[in-house]
Amino acid sequence: MTTPARSRSARPSRPKGQGQWALGHLEPLNPNERMKKDQDGLAVRDRILNRYPYTGFAGIDPQDLRGRFRWWGLYTQRREGIDGGKTAVLEPEELEAPFFMQRIRLDGGQLTSDQLRVVAGISTRYGRDVADVTDRQNIQLHWIRIEDVPAIWAALEGAGLTTAEACGDTPRVILGCPLAGVDGDEVIDATPAIEETVRRYVGDESLSNLPRKFKSAISGCADHCTLHEINDIAFVGVVHPEFGPGYDLWVGGGLSTNPKLGVRLGTFVPPDRVAEVWHAVASLFRDYGYRRMRTRARLKFLVADMGPEWVRATLEKEYLATALPDGPPPAPPRNEGRDHIGVHQQRDGRFAVGFAPRAGRLSGTTLAAVADLSDRFAAGRIRATTTQKLVILDVDPARVDELEAELTALDLVVRPSVFRRGTMACTGIQFCKLAIVETKGKAGSLIDELERRLPDFDEPIGIHVNGCPNACARFQVADIGLKGSLVPDASGELVEGFQVHLGGHLGTRSRLGRKSRGLKVTSVGVVDYVDGLLRAYSADRGAGESFAD
Ligand code: SF4
Repeated sequence: MTTPARSRSARPSRPKGQGQWALGHLEPLNPNERMKKDQDGLAVRDRILNRYPYTGFAGIDPQDLRGRFRWWGLYTQRREGIDGGKTAVLEPEELEAPFFMQRIRLDGGQLTSDQLRVVAGISTRYGRDVADVTDRQNIQLHWIRIEDVPAIWAALEGAGLTTAEACGDTPRVILGCPLAGVDGDEVIDATPAIEETVRRYVGDESLSNLPRKFKSAISGCADHCTLHEINDIAFVGVVHPEFGPGYDLWVGGGLSTNPKLGVRLGTFVPPDRVAEVWHAVASLFRDYGYRRMRTRARLKFLVADMGPEWVRATLEKEYLATALPDGPPPAPPRNEGRDHIGVHQQRDGRFAVGFAPRAGRLSGTTLAAVADLSDRFAAGRIRATTTQKLVILDVDPARVDELEAELTALDLVVRPSVFRRGTMACTGIQFCKLAIVETKGKAGSLIDELERRLPDFDEPIGIHVNGCPNACARFQVADIGLKGSLVPDASGELVEGFQVHLGGHLGTRSRLGRKSRGLKVTSVGVVDYVDGLLRAYSADRGAGESFAD
């Protein structure tokens, strides 16, 4: 087990009794902490490779199955046919099917065509040809059997990909701008900082028992596409008047059931200190993070209680070799859309072509076709975005139109409607054990119906469809955020539906969406509801007024 770092500064006097290791609470205070203390999550790898493929699903230790497997990106999949009303009442073993979701981390969203072909091949061979691109730049496969995991990992690792710490109480995938290194307006190319941080610390047992997940973003994107406001830690590209390009450090953002926007520490991080500073913040979270209750175990609660001044002082006194200089805040985003969809010229004259599947749902077959297109029309570099979209880099200017036609034939739209562009959906009830409602299909029908009913609507609009309050598709920061819940229908019976949050936004005026007690809509009625909402907005909007206003 990891021992906490030795403190060299005064301990904070509040809040006590939250299970912080640094305050002496080394004994596990709940079953999750006990599981992690009994054995590190990463240690299950050997059993996944050498024992469980032979015992089969039924022979998997429950602590591994519902705990440590996550450290390698494996979640059990929801059993088919269980409705959302049973999610909260059934036991885990009643909810789960003998299949897994396998998350593959793509740090910085970066993929080569060869890597994408390997992922696509796994999807078609082992995952019933389903593949989702997530809003954290991962790819998720479904229907995976434990017997097939060794072959899947061998293929992934042979291609230079990993599932290490894709889930679990660990440093998750590090977000990066899909146009890093090619966009002429970027403040700094964060790719080396992401690569160095991953190389040094992903899979490092000193950080594999954090209080909960730790979400990171490192980017110099002019559009702020990595959403620094809602990550546990974010490095945002800035230019220091004395030291040049580097990063502004943010901590303590996160959504889920207690959403909080991150705060600046006011420090400037030089490019060559990013990995060191990232490690310092992760270590501070490990040692001072709350471990008593999982609902309070994210870094955002510690930051909210103790304040950014305490975080900065503790980092500099206890975790960093030298203090960090003060630094400037980031410039406002170049645009508020942040999605990199469409055709954009790179600084070398070639083009980046971003395209939209439906709410992130793809197939292995389609991913293989994308890999082939990126080889035929470009240089085999593909990027995932933070909005469930993909980008092919380095496209020859003379061949952009031809590529766009080929992508369109695959239902991958380069110039999508505002509805396809702005709609995201989490996994939902099809595969997720926590879900209350279906999401991917509902998002697809929303896109189709709104395109048919409102063909002239052209205001950018974010519609984020979530299957439960956990906010994997960020309902609190959408123009229209849909949070899966059971809601009464016309006869008063509880059915699948959504609590509606309106007016969320990240950008120059970041704010969380407003929830109104009366704003609930059934799943069946949600298309009519959104249609009516957008018509009312179109009729009443003032000059220059956006939907979020
Ligand atoms: Fe599952 Fe809820 Fe996350 Fe959707 S928001 S993927 S239903 S946990």
